[in-house]
Amino acid sequence: MSRRKMIYEGKAKILYEGPEPGTLVQYFKDDATAFNAEKKDVIDGKGALNNRLSEFFMKGLMQIGVPTHFIKRLNMREQLIRQVEIIPLEVIVRNVAAGSISKRLGIEEGTQLPRPIVEFSYKDDALGDPLVPEEYIIAFGWASQQDLDDIVSLALRVNDFMSGVMMAVGIKLIDFKIEIGRVWDGDFQRLIVADEISPDSCRLWDVETGQKLDKDVFRRDLGNLADAYTEVARRLGVLPVNGPQPGKPTLVN
Ligand code: C5P
Repeated sequence: MSRRKMIYEGKAKILYEGPEPGTLVQYFKDDATAFNAEKKDVIDGKGALNNRLSEFFMKGLMQIGVPTHFIKRLNMREQLIRQVEIIPLEVIVRNVAAGSISKRLGIEEGTQLPRPIVEFSYKDDALGDPLVPEEYIIAFGWASQQDLDDIVSLALRVNDFMSGVMMAVGIKLIDFKIEIGRVWDGDFQRLIVADEISPDSCRLWDVETGQKLDKDVFRRDLGNLADAYTEVARRLGVLPVNGPQPGKPTLVN
């Protein structure tokens, strides 16, 4: 038996070579990191929850015609995905001020923004993923103007979809981050949603109570992270109705 080949290990996921060319296996770890990995912990069940939640969001996006890298879930912690060339940008969409925009501009957290704002950070841990203007992105060749137009349009479609899905279960989508991948069909390139969409990369607040149900629970020591993610999964029907209660993230297969 040969050992499978690891392609890349990140803070929360590992990528392995897939069974066919052009595919990868994405493994979700239980590791939680924040502040560029200055704060670290292992949260039992987080990887399994994010695998399920990312599957749920990516499948929903594909149903409304938004292309993603997702092919199928393989097991509790792994999914089969399309191999893409990742554009080195974190694409962030904000509906309500929180986190870095509040800090940078002195806007109180929870302030509704006049319209969804799309911003870009350059993906580089050593530099702390700095915010970059479109001018830099084009000048340094990370993406073309056409790519950027397509990325903004994809990001806003993801925002509309995610906002609606979350609002239906009493959760406000404050902001989120996505990553975009390039795939080639012959000589033609397409841009698709890649990486993951999960409470690790979104801010999610309960509509009634304002309770945080995302990674800020870990970043700001607000309680048990797995409980928060389990609550999101339960409301979305990703956990069985009569299944485990929050705190026990056992998943249906
Ligand atoms: O920290 P900031 O306010 O810029 O984060 C905006 C959104 O992007 C948050 O939902 C956060 O979880 C997400 N994000 C991320 N990965 C990063 C930076 C931000 O998922 N490296």
